[in-house]
Amino acid sequence: MKTYTCQCGTPLFFGNRQCVECGLDAGWCDVCSETAAVSPEGTCVSCGTSVVPCANRTTYDVCNCFVDASLAEPGTLCRSCGMTTMVPDTSLPANVRRWALLEAAKRRLLYDFRTVGYPDDQLTALPPLAFRFLSDTPDKHVVTGHANGVITINTSEADPVHRESTRQQFGEPHRTLIGHMRHETGHFFWMREIEGRRDAEATRLFGDADANPYAETMKQYYEQGPPEDWNEQFISTYAASHPWEDFAETYAFYLDMRAVLDTLRWNAPEQVQDLGDDLPSMLATYCSAGIVLNEINRTMGLTDLVPEVVPPAVVSKLQFVHDVFESLRTGVVSQS
Ligand SMILES: [Zn+2]
Ligand SMILES: [Zn+2]
Ligand SMILES: [Zn+2]
Ligand SMILES: [Zn+2]
Repeated sequence: MKTYTCQCGTPLFFGNRQCVECGLDAGWCDVCSETAAVSPEGTCVSCGTSVVPCANRTTYDVCNCFVDASLAEPGTLCRSCGMTTMVPDTSLPANVRRWALLEAAKRRLLYDFRTVGYPDDQLTALPPLAFRFLSDTPDKHVVTGHANGVITINTSEADPVHRESTRQQFGEPHRTLIGHMRHETGHFFWMREIEGRRDAEATRLFGDADANPYAETMKQYYEQGPPEDWNEQFISTYAASHPWEDFAETYAFYLDMRAVLDTLRWNAPEQVQDLGDDLPSMLATYCSAGIVLNEINRTMGLTDLVPEVVPPAVVSKLQFVHDVFESLRTGVVSQS
């Protein structure tokens, strides 16, 4: 993530809603796609456009974005909030707090898409990418997942106690909201970019999804667990459950990697001076940075930032994900 600068010279971070030094309102400007300060008259300091806050910033404080004032009407939402089609009962303060954390993770996901150059029109084509943030009710459990462009996330995932106990239960190295966003959009990406377009290559790398009925295969995975040698073929244990999950886990790792490399690029450029735009270069830089980042985390008693080891079989899968993103970014179909 890029660190931005206020007009007063103070760093502005992606989640800021005010400059801590000069006190100006700040946030993500949908017009210039920057985190920027906004003058008391309502002008984005970065692009000079007249802006107004997203209605979810004013009404619920679950967003930090600004939108073009000339296009706004009362209740206008920013681009990110506009992708949310259902939210939990906002009369309960705990729900609003959880919703805010989910929106923050979603804004970060949309920044990821900018980093990798995923075209906006791929998100808005029919059916568009949409999000539902829902809470369990006494008679209905909300299952986190993706279906036909719609990502549903159970708001309990925004409760750190629940999330950590679930992480322990499944033996996961990480369980985070941004991780959910990256994983679930892997299923969206499969639907939009892989299925019906790149089937032969996807089947060769991830296995035949059609030959493995999803419900049955997942039941078997939960009963038996991953194969003993899962780490020679997969990026995570969960990736071993089904070809779709293998793809989503691999894709999520790819976005993790790109996000960390982007953060290094803006904040510690000396760490990435040899970084090229090819996958082997990215992986090598990420893995060597990971050794340092893991050690820093261990110093502070935290879990490893980069827990994964990438075997050759997974490198091929990552190369596929990289090639698809690159062909979408450049409009050139890869020959590899
Ligand atoms: Zn300032
Ligand atoms: Zn702006
Ligand atoms: Zn918003
Ligand atoms: Zn999944």
